[in-house]
Amino acid sequence: MELIFLNPVFKEMIWGGNKLRQFGYDIPGDDTGECWAISAHPNGDCLIKGGEFDGKSLSWLYENHPELFGNPKNDRFPLLIKIIDAKDDLSIQVHPNDEYAKKNENGSLGKTECWYILDCEPGTKIVIGHNAKDHAEVEDMITNSRWKEFIREIPVHKGDFFQIDPGTLHAIKGGTLILETQQNSDITYRVYDYDRLQNGKPRQLHIRQSIDVIKAPFTESKEKPVVSDLGDCVITRFVKCPYYTVEKLELKNGSISFDMEDPYINMSVVEGSGKINDVSIKKGDHFIIPSSYGEYVLEGNMTIIRSFVD
Ligand code: ZN
Repeated sequence: MELIFLNPVFKEMIWGGNKLRQFGYDIPGDDTGECWAISAHPNGDCLIKGGEFDGKSLSWLYENHPELFGNPKNDRFPLLIKIIDAKDDLSIQVHPNDEYAKKNENGSLGKTECWYILDCEPGTKIVIGHNAKDHAEVEDMITNSRWKEFIREIPVHKGDFFQIDPGTLHAIKGGTLILETQQNSDITYRVYDYDRLQNGKPRQLHIRQSIDVIKAPFTESKEKPVVSDLGDCVITRFVKCPYYTVEKLELKNGSISFDMEDPYINMSVVEGSGKINDVSIKKGDHFIIPSSYGEYVLEGNMTIIRSFVD
């Protein structure tokens, strides 16, 4: 049984930059906003790098070799893991839940997502939530363009983590580099785009759907990360929700071994380098540890974001 390494898919965006080069990627331009690192979505289906399944797509592997994924109940690969480099502010958005998306978006999944802040420039802020007291005020603030009052901005720092449930208004601003773990869905409702123009025209907004799905009042998540200091490795569990568990592993010139307990595990090396068993890995590598892989030993000086579904 071998690890499944993936070739990322890159997306140029009007707000994108060139920081993804720091991960060793050959990006298509200086406006590269997204690296779809572990994805089986039709808009960016990663191809397998090396090994028995070299050149096959992740969606193909999931369909044809379900045993590598613990014979899962999900009909499609459930997660999508991206690195996002925002040189400019992203539009302010909200996502529907599964129920709303299924009914209104051709059976698509809704979207719960979360952000690990890989880096940000000093003084950067992030949009999470809004200041309307109830749903009627959400509608009033949006339809009357009361954006300054409506949008809730807070300071952001490297290493912060945000869980973004459906119905939560959110956006990253210029100068922010994140790793996003999300449900495998592309359904986004754009509420406000700072009145910017693309090719002379404003980008499409989804006002009706946004008002439908924004939750009010906004309540901040009270979940605190759970930190386990194991000496050679510090493990921080950021979130465990019905869609995923996301953890950070920080190895400090040491090693740690794990027994596979979960059907499969998504791994993204975001800093440093080292080894998994006898395979060298480094910043920018993304791979899946398949089901029944058994014991794996990590060693080196590196930070990994690991995610899995129950
Ligand atoms: Zn989003």
